[in-house]
Amino acid sequence: MTVRLRLHPADVGSGLTSQRVRDRLIEDLRKMGIVDERVLNAIRTVPRHQFVDEVLATRAYENNALPIGFGQTISQPYVVAKMTEALLQCAPRRVLEVGTGSGYQAAVLAALGVQVYTVERIGELLRTARKRFRGLGLQVRSKHDDGRIGWPEEAPFEGIIVTAAGPALVDALIDQLAVDGVLVAPVGPAANQSLLCLRKQADGGIEQHDLGAVVFVPLLSGMTD
Ligand code: SAH
Repeated sequence: MTVRLRLHPADVGSGLTSQRVRDRLIEDLRKMGIVDERVLNAIRTVPRHQFVDEVLATRAYENNALPIGFGQTISQPYVVAKMTEALLQCAPRRVLEVGTGSGYQAAVLAALGVQVYTVERIGELLRTARKRFRGLGLQVRSKHDDGRIGWPEEAPFEGIIVTAAGPALVDALIDQLAVDGVLVAPVGPAANQSLLCLRKQADGGIEQHDLGAVVFVPLLSGMTD
């Protein structure tokens, strides 16, 4: 990991947020097939318990999605690990994330030394996520917008990660992907979503494979405060 997090005593954790409990999660992720040590190390280091409400902190190192308010969820650690591993294949310098939510996925990428650009449609979630980035000393660029338009001024991105499921892949995002770049996105209706991984080839063609079934909140249009 190239970035040193600014960790306060509360980030280090104790009891159910202690290093021992986090190490158990890492072992579970290994058993589930996550092999990239950089990803495992980032998940071990980023204090996931600081990305959920205090009353849920003791459940932060269970391998589950958890509610973050506004009907949204922080993704399951396994899914964060899987998506991060898929993105790192192309050694991205800059990654666009659609769906900041708690900020956890963005923090894991930033801890790996990636320059993250993240977009969230719910203003209140974004404000809370920004405080978390600042607290950990992470440089994350963010904007309050409908992420389906991407971030054209900053495109192309070597990696794009969408953390909410749309009915189909979003063309504007594929357009903003660099050649040899990787886009990871869940696609499909609530009961039947697949995690798709796309790679853009030099001739503009797209190579696509399916990383398996997932459950994400829906990709919605417009913005709210
Ligand atoms: N990556 C997040 C996962 C949050 S859940 C994390 O690590 O916590 C998905 C998020 O996508 C929600 O916060 C939701 O508000 C947001 N979202 C849904 N549709 C969106 C859109 N069109 N543009 C930006 N964000 C969107």
